[in-house]
Formats: sequence, structure tokens, C-alpha cells
Amino acid sequence: MEKTKEIRTRFAPSPTGELHIGALRTALSDFLYARKNNGKFILRIEDTDQSRLVEGAVGRFLEMLEWAGVVPDEGVLLKRRGTNDKGQGGKEKKIKDLGFEIQEKGDYGPYIQSKRLDIYKKYIQQLIDEGKAYYCFCTSERLDEMRKKQQAEKKAPKYDRKCLDLSKEEVEEKLKNGEKCVVRFKVPEGKTVFNDLVYGKIEVENSTVDDQIILKSDGFPTYHLAVVVDDYLMKISHVFRGAEWISSTPKHILLYEAFGWEDAMPEFAHMPNILGKDGKKKLSKREGSVSVKDFKDQGYPAEAVVNFIALLGWNPKTQQEIFTMEELVEQYDIKKVNRAGAVFDIKRLDWISAQHIKRMSVDELYGRVLPFLKKKKFYGEWYKQQATSDKEKEEYVKKVLMVEKDRLEKLTQAGENNKFFFSDKIETSADSLRWKDSSDDDTKKYLAIADDILKEIDENNWTQENIEEKLLDIAGEKRGDLLFPLRAALTGQDRSPSPFEVAWVIGKERSLQRIENAIKNI
Ligand code: GLU
Repeated sequence: MEKTKEIRTRFAPSPTGELHIGALRTALSDFLYARKNNGKFILRIEDTDQSRLVEGAVGRFLEMLEWAGVVPDEGVLLKRRGTNDKGQGGKEKKIKDLGFEIQEKGDYGPYIQSKRLDIYKKYIQQLIDEGKAYYCFCTSERLDEMRKKQQAEKKAPKYDRKCLDLSKEEVEEKLKNGEKCVVRFKVPEGKTVFNDLVYGKIEVENSTVDDQIILKSDGFPTYHLAVVVDDYLMKISHVFRGAEWISSTPKHILLYEAFGWEDAMPEFAHMPNILGKDGKKKLSKREGSVSVKDFKDQGYPAEAVVNFIALLGWNPKTQQEIFTMEELVEQYDIKKVNRAGAVFDIKRLDWISAQHIKRMSVDELYGRVLPFLKKKKFYGEWYKQQATSDKEKEEYVKKVLMVEKDRLEKLTQAGENNKFFFSDKIETSADSLRWKDSSDDDTKKYLAIADDILKEIDENNWTQENIEEKLLDIAGEKRGDLLFPLRAALTGQDRSPSPFEVAWVIGKERSLQRIENAIKNI
């Protein structure tokens, strides 16, 4: 019979740097699965490897998850500034992490492994008492030598169980003398089999599994021990993680069995690697951005990044390529993720990003681009020079965005290719204004015609449609002759939105001014 337990997924990063795009993909799978099944998505911090910790990393992870909309329900959460969110009855504690305020919420805490050392010690002791784990006092020199010998004999590196022969008294004596030691798990004989939701059935002969260390000499458990104890105590139903952990899973299953927790064993799904351009090697920093923050800073909207990573190795088997988070909750299925690694194609991200930007309202887009615009010199200068009110400035930028919206791939591109919207210093010359092999006189003549036509349009009728209609009417067959110099006069560029759009945005007065200046430059 199908087990009917609550769906509880977890994302369990080690705070060793920035959130990697592959890690976001794992977290997204956790999030979507929990949402779809009315479950909980838990965030746990795995910091048992104290040598690799990076200060502030937890806060930065949480911030990026929040940005992506992949927000945990329980565990370690970002405390939103200015709110006093007590959660749903769970315990709550504040933690400081380099300027970030972090809280723990839920009934299965602490959710940070370094605060759970006593819990791990208790379970390790249980295994020792039951003869399922043992102390090992071997020095690193001895282990090195052993490994070298095994290598020379072309054997897989594996602990040779020397310390398993120690008598109880010998162990006690050594412990009393404070000899440096670790605790190892005694891998039983037999075979370990599990069914990975992505990779299918996996079988491993236990004889190939090393007697892994479960307690290190610094008193911290290893990842293997801590992950099993925590997933069990936190009642995790599904473990999704990167493919690099697939060879660790048999070790974990053996631990579940040693503790007698078979019935609580979670389901496992390992996410295939994200591959670089060559489709062979794992995506690496050398090829460009790998951290979520890089993508954010480059101006990709969060929903585009989420959409893109959901499609790495998964597709809905329909034509649909653009997904909202709600649609992903409905349709995403980790069981249908392809086992072959997925190639990271930045051009696809650009395209997906453009589609999401197109779908935004101008008000929404304005809110998103503003933080980027504010960092740009051309925008800062324009803003300072305007005598208009803040509201009017906002309206103006929104007009620019109305024109640019369908042409943007990233939020950072707003205004970037069309700085003529923000500055009246337009450079033109007879050459830049000339349409094909027209004469200078013709260029002047057509600019003068455009000037006349635009002058006749009343300020109140200054709409794109009107401008377009009037200009095209007079242009007749001579579209290029009229529109090319006009566009060059208005923008000073050989590529830009149409002169109708530009004239509409900058308004009547500035349009006429630019045309008249251009005529003078011929
Ligand atoms: N702490 C591990 C990591 O950062 C997580 C592995 C797991 O999810 O079990 O990759």
C-alpha cells in the first residue's frame, strides 16, 4: 500500500559561497514538489565542514531564494525587515549572519547542523554500543600509506579495518589518553538497492562501500551521518539533490538500516549535472556566470531564471516554453527529468527572459528596471537636469519602456541602447543623415517636410498613431527618403526604434528642435 505521509522536501546547502544555479534548480524542485502536494519545503544549513564556511553565505543564499520566489516554509528563513513574523506557532530564534537577519521556524529545529552536535553524538554512541560503528585511531600517515599501497595494487581505496581488531580495553585506554580518533561506520555485508526517481534502480555491493567516517576528530559528524539523522528527525519524505551525491546514497541507506529506520526512508531523486557549452563537462565558472546572483545582477528577471532552470532536463512534452511559477507547480515533474545532463544555453535564457519581459506591464517593468537605471550615469544626469516633478519623470521613463519593452532581453538593457531618450546631445552630420545615395539637398528637403508635418500636429494629438499616419501619408513611395534622415535626426543612431515611437516619447518640442539642429549640420 502506498505510504500516506506528509510531503516534506528539504534543501540543505552548505554555506560555502554564492548560491549556484544548479543548487537553485534543486531548491526549485523541492519547492515545486512541496507546493504541488500540499507539503512543506524545509531549509536546513549543513555546516559540519567548518573549514569551508563562508561568513554571510547563509543570508546570501536566503536572499537569492527569496529573489527567485523559491521561499522555504520551515527551517532557516530570512527575517523580513520591519515585520514581526512569528510564523505558524513554530519556535523562532534570531541569528545574526553578517548584516542579514535570519530566523529559524518550525518544530524540528535547530535547523543548523552545528547546533545539533549533541543529537548526532547520541546517535553515534548508539551505533557504537550496538557494534555498528567503531573508533579508529589510525594516523593520517598510516592511512596515506595504506591508500598508496591499494593504488599500487589497483584496488579501490578503502579502510582496511585495522582498528576493528582493537579490544574494548584498548579503545578505552586510548580514549582516556586523549588519542586523536574518529568513528567509522561498519558497513555490513550484502547488497544495497534503491530506486532513484530520476536514475531508476541502483544496486551496490556493500563490499565496495568504505567504512566511512561518521564522527570526525574535531567532534563534528560527517555529512553522511548528519544528513541521515536530520532527514529522519525532520521527517523528510523526499530528498532531491545533485547527481554528485548519488554514490553517497547507498551509504545513507545503510545508516537508515543500521538505525532501524527503514520505514521512514525518504525517496531519492538525483538531479543530473548541468553541462557547459560543449555538452560534456560540468558547467564551470570559466564559461561565465554560475551563481544566481550573477544572473540577477546581469538583469535577468527572476521568473525567467526559474523558467529556464526548470527546463534544464525537463520539458512538458507540449509546445509550451514560457511558464509562470504557478504553471510549474502544476506541470513540473521531477520523475520526468532526463538522466542525461542538460546543456546550459545562455541564448535560450536570453530568449526566455525576453518573453517574460514582454509579458510584464509597463508599471511592473518600471519597478524592475529602476534599480538598474539608477546606477547608470546617463540616467543620473538626465534625472538631475529635469525640471519636471518626480511623477512626470516616472511617466517619461514609462513611455521609454513602452517603446523598449518588446526589444529587451535583460532589465539592465533599459535605456542602454537608446540614450537619446535621456540626452539632447544628438550628433548628426550630412553623412549620418543621408539615405542611400540621396543628395544633401534632398536630405535637407525631407527633413524640412518632416518638420512641417510634425509642426502641424497639435500637442494634444501627439500620439504614435497620429505621427505615423501623417508622416506615411506624405512620404508615399519615398519612405526611406523621409524616414531615414528623420530617425537619424531624432536619435543620432543608425539603429533605433522607429521615428514615430521616438518622436512620440520625446514630445513635439524636442523633436522639432532635433530636426532643426540636424538641418543645420548639413
Ligand atoms: N550539503 C550538501 C550540499 O551542499 C547537500 C547534499 C544533500 O542535499 O543531501 O551539496
